[in-house]
Amino acid sequence: VKYYLSKIETKAQLNAFVEVYSQSALEQAAAIDEKIAAGKAGKLAGMVIGIKDVLCYNEHESNASSKILEGFESQFTGTAVQRLIDEDAIIIGRLNCDEFGMGSSNENSVHGKVLNAIDETRVPGGSSGGSAVAVQANLCTVSLGTDTGGSVRQPAAFTGVIGIKPTYSRVSRFGLIAYASSFDTIGVFSNNVKDNALVLETMAGPDDYDSTSSRKPVPAYSKLLHFDKPAKIAYLKETVHSEALQPEIKANTLNVLEKLKEEGHKVEEVNFPLLDYVLPTYYILTTAEASSNLSRFDGVKYGYRTPNAHNLESMYKLTRSEGFGEEVKRRIMLGTFVLSASYYDAYFTKAQKVRKLIKDYTEDLLTKYDYIVLPTTPSTAFKFGEHSNDPVAMYLEDLFTVQASVSGVPSISIPNGKDDKGLPIGLQIMTNSFKEAELYAFANYLT
Ligand code: GLN
Repeated sequence: VKYYLSKIETKAQLNAFVEVYSQSALEQAAAIDEKIAAGKAGKLAGMVIGIKDVLCYNEHESNASSKILEGFESQFTGTAVQRLIDEDAIIIGRLNCDEFGMGSSNENSVHGKVLNAIDETRVPGGSSGGSAVAVQANLCTVSLGTDTGGSVRQPAAFTGVIGIKPTYSRVSRFGLIAYASSFDTIGVFSNNVKDNALVLETMAGPDDYDSTSSRKPVPAYSKLLHFDKPAKIAYLKETVHSEALQPEIKANTLNVLEKLKEEGHKVEEVNFPLLDYVLPTYYILTTAEASSNLSRFDGVKYGYRTPNAHNLESMYKLTRSEGFGEEVKRRIMLGTFVLSASYYDAYFTKAQKVRKLIKDYTEDLLTKYDYIVLPTTPSTAFKFGEHSNDPVAMYLEDLFTVQASVSGVPSISIPNGKDDKGLPIGLQIMTNSFKEAELYAFANYLT
């Protein structure tokens, strides 16, 4: 803990941590030392973990990196974090992110932007940018992020670390400040596959506080990392040959596929004709869910309340106008629009139908093949400000990550070399729901 605390201080300019729990982390560590001496330590004893600023931790502040949650202190600990603490992990602090998880560059945070440690003029990706950089710069052993449409995998790719989005419902969302409830997952960043697997197997599993959490038993992923059988691997033509793809990413992805073929795996090109529909589907449904989820922030129950109100209505209006950032307001408006009576069928209902088509298509592919391999992102880390005035260009960053989110299947990003500027490239692997053990084993084989 002392080592990490001093590292966090020397790397303060990266702005990965919003708050460091120096005292409670040292106290936790001392208590765990005693447990170790008594032979009673949990399986994560001494693992130092940072958590994204959207996860609730008892008597600690969580802001979702938004002004509207300024001063909000949680009165309970979310299930995922609690399960880590129960196994003697140490929570060292909370990590910067895009406001309510909305963004791909970590530029939408009330706490300021996070710098990519490999090139400080570039974004770390988002929305879990702080979580990615904390692991990249070795400011903690492992970190938690959340992934609604790529927010763990894309920053993992931009920073050269490993990031998993588990199957939807695998990890309880209790204590996660909601963005889009039918997409939100809690994921893990790490520098190696084993740590990642160990943390996920500890957090996962049924939870009475989240009725959508799966009842399926959780295998011990960290003990199932051996990969020996020949696999059936598909790659999506429309992604690997996409015009949006940076040439070095294409080359590195094709290289891996070639190598896999040489090693005796079955590697086949398949079509994904629905690629053009994944982003519109994702952005219609997530903005709709966000507009509903974020209606609870009214200045009464949580965090910020405007000092400028003269009656109840102006209190609501001014609190929300002053408290939410620009991107969040844009999404609330979009979501309110697609849910409005006259447009509901044209947008919301249609997007739900397309979601089902994408899900069915993806799951069908994943019954024929063990894995789908594709690039994590169309480009490597871009410069600050590059997409700030163009929301659609920013949304295009999610082109390859939203398929797994729309379908609910697990997906991991692992490092796959660098581009000509020395910036990390990510390789993404998807598999069918609840096959995290197989996903980790394959990732382990490739890293
Ligand atoms: N970049 C995507 C978005 O802005 C993904 C965010 C996320 O996964 N939380 O919605």
